[in-house]
Formats: sequence, structure tokens, C-alpha cells
Amino acid sequence: MTVRADGLATASVLVENGRITRIIAGAAPDDGVPHVEGRSRMLLPRFVEVHTHLDKGQVHHRAPNPNGTFLGAREAVMADREANWSAEDVRTRMDFALRCALHHGTGAIRTHLDSIGKQTAISWGVFDEMRAAWKDRIALQAVCLFPVVKVIDEPEEFANVLAHVRRYGGVLGAVTFLGEPLDGKLDAALDIMIGTAKAEGIDLDFHVDESDSPDARSLEVIADALVRHRFAGRALAGHCCSLALMDDADRRRVIDKLVAARLNVVSLPMCNMYLQDRVSGRTPRWRGVAPLHELDAAGVSTMVSSDNTRDAFYAYGDLDAVEVYREATRILHFDHSSRPWLETVFARPADQMGLDDRGRLAPGLAADLVILPARTMNEFLSRPQVGRTVLIGGKAIAVPLPDYAELDVL
Ligand SMILES: [Zn+2]
Repeated sequence: MTVRADGLATASVLVENGRITRIIAGAAPDDGVPHVEGRSRMLLPRFVEVHTHLDKGQVHHRAPNPNGTFLGAREAVMADREANWSAEDVRTRMDFALRCALHHGTGAIRTHLDSIGKQTAISWGVFDEMRAAWKDRIALQAVCLFPVVKVIDEPEEFANVLAHVRRYGGVLGAVTFLGEPLDGKLDAALDIMIGTAKAEGIDLDFHVDESDSPDARSLEVIADALVRHRFAGRALAGHCCSLALMDDADRRRVIDKLVAARLNVVSLPMCNMYLQDRVSGRTPRWRGVAPLHELDAAGVSTMVSSDNTRDAFYAYGDLDAVEVYREATRILHFDHSSRPWLETVFARPADQMGLDDRGRLAPGLAADLVILPARTMNEFLSRPQVGRTVLIGGKAIAVPLPDYAELDVL
């Protein structure tokens, strides 16, 4: 198959009984066999979103960020969680978000769940319901999220979180930098988390160094800990913003450690661009993103994803992976590059989630597809791709975008 300069190829995907049977180079012969409207269109597998917050989102009307900063986001979310996150509230917002994602063509989503105090039982319970209700439309995974220092300072709280991760087959995660270096406590907490994950076959997914601070150095500590434990499972680090601002030699050293630790990186470019380097009255000087080109070239599996949607951490978004990829292209310069960046929203996040039948086109796989009104990467990236067709098991679905008015009751 001839691959063009923009990474796309002209091919025909033959589907029978909901599965891809053959992929052949060139246009399909016009032999009268029924075909889905797809000629001269772009065909992709359904998207995979590896880093979202379905429990936090869709609250802009009631809990906006007061000033657009990271601190403002934390405080607004904490207050909203305490006041409003009942099971019904979380369920309503998650369902809204999932219908957005389904409409836009996403087939698998990993969400972090704030796992603190009484919220842990509420959110994991709702997540479990949603995972069952949505299993034929979107594959769902969840990761616990709490400040990592609680592992040491509040062991009973951590025990409760871990019990929920075990009970619901979740991924173990935490936020490893919140403004101050934790020194020995970070190592001690990671030893417990990684030791547990290794013993029980649980995957890891951390929120790492979402900051421009020179104190944000937890990424290297995590990589060292994974090597120390000879962790062989799947480990992911989200954000890693401060890595971009390190000296070249220091960054090189840390990236080499990520390769050795098989610690992969997901960048959240829309959220980072919104929060990082925000100072009132001053124009931002930095895009806020991890050094994805350097990581990718070194052999780290790199990904991009939505992160927050219409909440205090990111005011906008619609769980649309096309928007994520389009913005990533602009913010991270995926263009004018020979790296296979499209994999950042398909096969790589699928592999990270252990879903080796997702995010790719191959004979034998379900015909879970997105057909877009574009023929080239330039056409794909220049318009928002309104009018795309989503197929599940070879059948076009018609799921309208939910109306924002649905959220007025919250
Ligand atoms: Zn996040």
C-alpha cells in the first residue's frame, strides 16, 4: 500500500457481519456491492482517550475557575465536589460527557476519579454503573486520583481508595506534585503504590509535575522507583510540563530514565495551554506542554488526550478527540514532522489501556470506524469535522450531541 506524504493511504476496508474482513489498496471496484458513504473520505478507527476527568466535567455554569490559574482550579473543584457531587450529579454529568464522546467517534475512555473521603464510594459506584451501561458503545476504565502524600500521612484513607481500585478493577494513580517537593515521602509513597501494583497486577497512571516550578521534579523519582521495583506492568505519566523547562542535560537524563522504566507520557495540550504560564495582565510566554518530540524520538510511547472538559481546570472542550488532535498539532507542532503522531490518539493509548483490538484498522477487528469529510491531513485539520459518520460494528450510529439545557437542573 502506498503511503502518501501526509501519512494517509488510499484503501478500501471491506466489512462483513460487523467485522473488517479485508483492507485492499486503492478504491473498491464499483461492482454493485452496497457500501457505506465513504468514497474520497478519510476513514479512521474510533478514537481512544486515555486521560479524562468524567467526574469533574460539565460544571462551568456553577463552578468556573475564578482566575484561570491551577490554584484557582483546585479550589473551585474542591468546593464543587464538597457541595454538589452526589451520585445523581456525577451520573448526569458522566452520561452527558459520554454522549458527547460517542457522537464525536470515541470508542474507549480512561477517566481519573477524585478519590477523597466520601467521594470515593460515590464516584466509583457510579463509574461501575456507567461502565456496564456503556460497554457496547464505549469501553471505560477508571484511575483513582488523590494527593500521593496521603499514602503516608493518611494510611486508612489510602486503604479505602485501594479497596475501591481492587473492587472495581481500576488503575492505581495519584497526583505527585502539588506545589512543594515531598522529598522522602514521595519515595515512600511510591514504594507502597508500585509494590502493591506489582504484586496484584494493577496498572499505574500518575498526574505528574503539572507546573512550571523548578521544584516539580517528581517524574524522575517515579522512573527511579519503577526501575527499583522492576515494575513490568503498564505505567503512564500525565502532564510532565516542567520537563520541558529543564536544562538540556537534565531533561536528557530524565528521558533516558523514562525509557529504562518503560514509563509512557500523555500530554494534555488544551488544559496545559489554559492553565500554564497564566499571569493576570501578562501575555503567556510558554505553551505549557511536555517535550513530546524529544520523548517520542527517545522511544517513549507518547499520547495526547482531552483531560478536563468545561470545568475549572479547562473551561472548554467537548470530549472530541478530533479537536484534541487538531489542537495538539498546532500547540505541539505535530505537523512538519515525520513521527507517526496520529498514533497518539489511537494505537498507543489503546495499548496503554490493554485494549489491543482498539485504535487500529485490521482484518478480524470490529468495524468501529469514523468517516470524516476530508481527504488529506490538511483538510482534516483545517475544519472541525462537522458531519462525520461514526460506525459501531459496521453500523452507522445516530447519537445527537446532548443539549446544554440538560445540565440546567444541576
Ligand atoms: Zn488530568
